[in-house]
Amino acid sequence: MLRLLVLSFLFPSAVLHAAQEAPVQDPPAPVAAQEPQEHPMAREAREQRALMEVLLADKKTKLKSYVSKKARLRVHSDFKSSRGPKEALKATEEVLQAMLWGLGAHDASEEKTWLRDDHPMELYLIDDEELYFRIIDLLSEHSAIYRPYLQSCKQGTGFTLYPAQLSVYFHNVKVQAEARLDHSIAHNAAHLELHRRYGFTPLPIAEAIACAAEELALGEIWANWYRDGFVYAVSHDGWRGSDTQLALKKHGLDDYWAYPAKPYDDAMAHLGFAWAIYALEAEPQALHRLLRAIQTEYDAHPEQGGLYRISPEHLAELVDEAFGPELQARVRDYWKKVPKAPKISKLRS
Ligand SMILES: [Zn+2]
Repeated sequence: MLRLLVLSFLFPSAVLHAAQEAPVQDPPAPVAAQEPQEHPMAREAREQRALMEVLLADKKTKLKSYVSKKARLRVHSDFKSSRGPKEALKATEEVLQAMLWGLGAHDASEEKTWLRDDHPMELYLIDDEELYFRIIDLLSEHSAIYRPYLQSCKQGTGFTLYPAQLSVYFHNVKVQAEARLDHSIAHNAAHLELHRRYGFTPLPIAEAIACAAEELALGEIWANWYRDGFVYAVSHDGWRGSDTQLALKKHGLDDYWAYPAKPYDDAMAHLGFAWAIYALEAEPQALHRLLRAIQTEYDAHPEQGGLYRISPEHLAELVDEAFGPELQARVRDYWKKVPKAPKISKLRS
């Protein structure tokens, strides 16, 4: 049971999810009737955070912490200059504000209260490869279940452990010729926040929302999926513009629900962005209904682990139930004229 639960919440990082598969698991074991105790995933998360605290206390790591005054959020970094980490902190605050603006105050359901504890989001921004490997080894030593996934991340640009609200970004210049630290960290935080609220969501849905939040907060999108190798073909600004309108003209939303999100497709990415912007700006209640329905579906099949599998037809049904008929016409209408970016600093009623 513990293994199952741990696995079910092990999920590839936002920056790596295109390349990673969730581990294969046993079918779910029956739940034993027991007195309420610490949820296994909550314990795992607490232990992982404790490990990282030990690391933070080790002066040799040269990790410096930056604490947000606005959000439950800390950035830890070994970068020599404080500029990058400070920019990342600020960008993350803004993206979280966009999530709050778009999704409203967080109301986790009763049975999910263990997800709702108040520890801050812990975002690591690592420059030194040795330290990055040490973090991976430390966490994989603690839990054999995580080892294969974590060790595979040594080749990449970081990983995210959702229940621990922990995301590690490694500035791997071997992989990424072009990257924006602030956007990368902030984008990962959008994924963490979405998970904190709704658990796992299918990749196209999660990406559309994370990219929309990134754009709402920062005006550009740098951290969309399959970034590695595709970044040169993708424009970072102007998502609120003609490319998005064109994608909406050429494709129906059903194309997007069927989009596996790998490999990356620029038109599909813009289509998903168009929908997510519409949903966040114009129909946040319907979006909330959809995400809750998706969460209910997932909870019925936790054995699928971190890679959420749902058929395009079924996802389209859930969207239809949440948004009602003629959603596509409404989204197209909304984008007929490029919608002006809203002010997200004040929350809506
Ligand atoms: Zn992402």
